[in-house]
Amino acid sequence: MTEQHPTIKPQPGILDIALYVGGESKIAGSGSNKVTKLSSNENPYGASPKAIEAFKAASAELAIYPSTDHAELREAIGQVHGVDPARVICGAGSDEIIAFLCQVYAGVGDEVLYTEHGFAMYRISALAAGATPVKVAEDNRYTDVDTLLAACNEKTKLVFIANPNNPTGTMISSTEIARLAEGLPAQAILVLDGAYAEFVQNEAFDAGLALIEVRDNVVMTRTFSKIYGLGGLRIGWGYGPAHIIDALNRVRGPFNLSGAALAAAEVAVLDTGYTAKCVELNATWRGWLTEKLATLGLEIDESHGNFILVRFATPVLAEGCDAFLRTRGLIVRKVGGYGFPEGLRITIGDEIACRQVAQSVKDFLEGQGA
Ligand code: PMP
Repeated sequence: MTEQHPTIKPQPGILDIALYVGGESKIAGSGSNKVTKLSSNENPYGASPKAIEAFKAASAELAIYPSTDHAELREAIGQVHGVDPARVICGAGSDEIIAFLCQVYAGVGDEVLYTEHGFAMYRISALAAGATPVKVAEDNRYTDVDTLLAACNEKTKLVFIANPNNPTGTMISSTEIARLAEGLPAQAILVLDGAYAEFVQNEAFDAGLALIEVRDNVVMTRTFSKIYGLGGLRIGWGYGPAHIIDALNRVRGPFNLSGAALAAAEVAVLDTGYTAKCVELNATWRGWLTEKLATLGLEIDESHGNFILVRFATPVLAEGCDAFLRTRGLIVRKVGGYGFPEGLRITIGDEIACRQVAQSVKDFLEGQGA
C-alpha cells in the first residue's frame, strides 16, 4: 500500500521502493516447536565464542559512546585481510556501505547497474538516492561482463556485482572482473560485493583486493553477517581507493556502529582458526547437500557461498516443496522476487540440518510421484 499526501512529497524514487523482504524466521501455527532457519545465509555455528565473550564484556560500558573512527576494528581487518586500515570504512552491515555509495555517487538522472538476479539492496539504495536502477541480464545465472559493459553510458555511476553472487552462488573470474573495471566509463565505479567472499575455496581468489590496489574505480564491500556469524549486530566494511573512502566517510554518522558490535567484530575477525573451521564445514556440507539434491534430479549450479539455489521443474513444485519443508520445521527462502519462481535458496546449515533438508526434499518428491 502506498500512502500519498496531497502536498508533502518524498524525494523522487522513494515511493518506487518495494520494501525489502527478509528471510522468514517463524512458521505460522508451529507454536514453540523448534524451527531451523535456512533462509538468510546465517552461520549455523554462530559467532566465535571469543566474540560472544567480548560482546558480554562490552555490557559494562553501555553508557559510553563508541569510537567514531573504528580504528581498532580497521586495524584488525587490515591485519587479517592484508588491507590498508586507512582505506577501510565500517558500516552498520554492508547494507550501509551500499547505501553510502549510492548516496554519495548517484542522484537524480544517474544510473546504477546491477545484475539480473542481484541482491535487492542495490535497487533499493539507488532509488533511495533518487537514481535510476538498471537491471542487466545475466548469462544463465552468471554475471556477464559484456552485457554489463554494453549497458553503460554517460549516466552510469555505479555498477554492483556480487562475487559470489546471491542467490545464484555463481562467480566469475578475476580476469573477467578486471576487464569490467577496465571497460567502465570514466565516471563510473565498480562495486564488488564480497558478502560471501570468505566461503570461496580457491587459494588464488582475493575478492578483488589486488585490483583495488591498482585502480581508482573499484571498491569492495564485506560483511560480518555471514562467515562471522554476527548478523544480529550489523557490521560491514568497505575497502577502496582513498578518494572513495574519504567521500563515504563524510556521510557516515559519527557513531554508526555500537561499542558492543565493535568489540565483538574485532575479536571475531582475529579468531582466524574459528573462521577457517566454519569455512571448512560449510564447504563439506555444501558439497554433500548439492550432490544429494542433484541426485534427485534437481538443477543446482556450483555454489561458492554458504547457500545453494535449487531449481525445480516448475514454480508449483518449488512452492509445494517450500510448504512441505515447513511442515518439518525447515524454513528456506523463496526467490521468486529474484527472478526464480521455480527456485528455493537453501542456506547450508550444520550436518543435522543438511541431512533433514536432503531427506525432506526426497520425501516431498517421492510424494509427487517423481
Ligand atoms: N550483499 C549480499 C550479496 C548479501 O546477500 C547481503 C545479505 N543478505 C548483503 C550484501 C548485506 O549484508 P549485511 O548488511 O548484513 O552486511
